[in-house]
This record gives sequence, structure tokens and C-alpha cells, in this order.
Amino acid sequence: MQLPKNVVFILNELYKRGYEGYIVGGCVRDYLMGIKPHDYDITTSALPEEVKQIFSHTADTGIQHGTVTVIIDKVGYEITTYRIDGEYKDNRHPEEVIFTDRLTGDLSRRDFTINAIAYNNIKGYVDLFGGMEDIKNRIIRGVGEPDKRFKEDALRMMRAVRFSAQLDFSIEENTMKALKENAGLIENISIERIREEFFKLIMSDHNERLQILLESGMTEYFLPEIIGKDIDYGKINNLSYDIVVRLSYILKDVDSLQVSKIMKRFKADNKSINAVSLVSKLREYEISDLYSMRKLISKAGENTKRVIEIICAINGSSYENCIEMFNSVKNDCCSLKELAIGGSDLINIGIKGKAIGENLDRALDYVMAEPWKNEREVLIKYIKGEF
Ligand code: ATP
Ligand code: MG
Repeated sequence: MQLPKNVVFILNELYKRGYEGYIVGGCVRDYLMGIKPHDYDITTSALPEEVKQIFSHTADTGIQHGTVTVIIDKVGYEITTYRIDGEYKDNRHPEEVIFTDRLTGDLSRRDFTINAIAYNNIKGYVDLFGGMEDIKNRIIRGVGEPDKRFKEDALRMMRAVRFSAQLDFSIEENTMKALKENAGLIENISIERIREEFFKLIMSDHNERLQILLESGMTEYFLPEIIGKDIDYGKINNLSYDIVVRLSYILKDVDSLQVSKIMKRFKADNKSINAVSLVSKLREYEISDLYSMRKLISKAGENTKRVIEIICAINGSSYENCIEMFNSVKNDCCSLKELAIGGSDLINIGIKGKAIGENLDRALDYVMAEPWKNEREVLIKYIKGEF
């Protein structure tokens, strides 16, 4: 395996001082699948304090789990001391972290066989649980007894489905059985951690695997609204890599008022809550001509393209055609801000109170139908009823 020079440097420095060091987890898995790893995690027999003594630039990013980040050429490499997890309470984090000098212990605490392979240039691959075979056969299999592993940390069940969608792997029978039996334990996991896995799942290229999530019974605990809905999840793979668009599609058969409650339940950021709620409200809007497109822009603003994508995904009309229409009107006046008259113009001609807003809205609608009429004189005459 061809390792980046900084990774080789780190492993060599550890080795020179009598410690072991291996790359492990996602980067080994990705490399074996022919995917370029996005980062390199290193596992070592050295204790965090020892790692900090060896390297000149480090940051204590997760010292409580034994992780020190070594920074070389502005890139961070997470170096974690071999550990076995202490006792788990409430199906969540272990009570304590116990360091060990054995790689075997560290690999046994990892979630899936495909994530439990270590590698360095001296020992080559250390694959104690058949992870390489499982990668070849495209299988997600729990390390050890899946039932026990899911009871220890219920988030692993979400991770199983997420990896299955990201990698297009199937879930091994015994692992799937344990998943179904322990689905209810997901209730003990914080919504933030569930959300992170769920969002990664729907940003993957294999949303048809959402079916596994439904089959597992976990959906009931954090998104019961989609159970029993007739949705072709595979269609999501063709949508933009945009969490707002993808969520809006998944929730397309859920009442739009409920959609905003769901987004709040996920503790999503306000911008996403508002965007998904708005897209859902407008998902049945009919785009029939340029006027209706301008009106859509006035309602959806910066979210217009997202709304168009969802409208087309739902009703089957051509996204390209709609975007062409959108591009042809996007610079026209579609908001009060762009209107050639403002409140003070109306006050000057004697309009007061509520009537100001009403007349501005009327003028905007007039301009959206015939954009060349967005001129001050023309609009004043229109409001005065002179034509
Ligand atoms: P990604 O490409 O998504 O980063 P990854 O495999 O690197 O995939 P991480 O969440 O970054 O996933 O975790 C790094 C490694 O730590 C995993 O490969 C796995 O060995 C281990 N790990 C992470 N979370 C758990 C968990 N909940 N239980 C057991 N092992 C875990
Ligand atoms: Mg990772």
C-alpha cells in the first residue's frame, strides 16, 4: 500500500522510539476498495503524552478518548492510543476508556470487520476478523457478536445502514438479525448523533438502502412519519447532493406543517429548518408560464432552484426546461425590493396605512406579469387607477 509521506514519517517516528503504529479504519477500507482515503487515522501503542513528546505540533482534539492530532504541513493526523472500551451504560458511550499495549484489543472494539483492518509497511495488513474477505464480498458484518456490540453502543446500528448505503454493501444475516432485535435501543442515542448518520445515509448514492432502515424498525423511533409511505427511495440518488432537497423529497408525503416539526426534532440548524419547510410548502406549486415562475421566485427567493427540483421530481416534468425558464426570468423584478416604487411614493400620493402594503403587492404582481412596466411613472399611474 502506497502511504502518503507524512503518514510514513509518523509511523517511522513511532517505530524509532519503540512503539507500534498502524493506519486503521476508514482509510484502509477505502484504499482496499480503490477509493482515495479522505483522511488517515493512526492507532499506536504509545500513550497520548508520549505522542505529544515525539511530535512538535500537536493538538489535544480528543484526549479523553486517547486521541492526539499531529499537525504536519497544515494537515491533521489523528493518532489514537490502542484502547479497549470500558463498560457501556445505557447503550451509549463506554463509562471509561482503557488503554492497552495490544493491537488485537484495539481492533476487537471496532464496529465492523471492514473497519477493523490495520496496516503498516512492516507488518502489512493485520486483518483479524476477515475484513478483507468481507470487502471483497461487499458485506457489513459486526466484529464479534453483533447482538452484544449493538447493545454496547446502539449508534452502531445506524452506522451499519449508513455504511451499507455509502459503500453499496449488504448487511450480513446475523448482523441484520441483531439489528432488528435491538432496533428499540436507538431511543437511547442522542438525536444529534442519529441525525449525523441519517444525513450521511441520504447524501449517499444508494438511498434504496433506506429500505433496510425501515425493515430494521429503527425508523419508528426517530422518523415514524415515513413509515408506510409509498416512496421510491432510489430516486433520491438522482437528486442534487443537497441535504435540503433530499430531505424535502423523503418528506414529500408528510403534511408540510409536520415537516417543520420534524426538522426541529432533528435539531437541524435554523437555515435548514426554514429551507426544508419552505420547499415542502411549495412542492405542489404549478409552473405554467413565465409569470408563475416569477411568482415562485417571489415566494421562494434563494431556495427557488431547490423548489423547482422537488416540483419536477414529484410531478415528473423536465427539470432542464424549468431551469431554462427560471434563468430567463431570474433577473426580472420578483420582489418589493426591486420594485421601481416604494412606500414613500405611495404616501406622496396620499395613500395611508394598510393600503400602502396592499398597493405595493398589487404593483409587484402587475410587474411580474409584464416586467417592462417596472417604471415609476407607469406604476404610479397604475396605482392611481389611471389605466
Ligand atoms: P468515514 O469514511 O465515514 O470517516 P470511518 O470508518 O473512518 O468512515 P469514523 O466514524 O471516522 O468512520 O470512525 C473511524 C473508525 O473508528 C471506524 O473505522 C471504526 O473502526 C471505529 N469506530 C467509529 N465509531 C465506532 C463505534 N461507534 N463503535 C466502534 N467502532 C467505531
Ligand atoms: Mg473517518
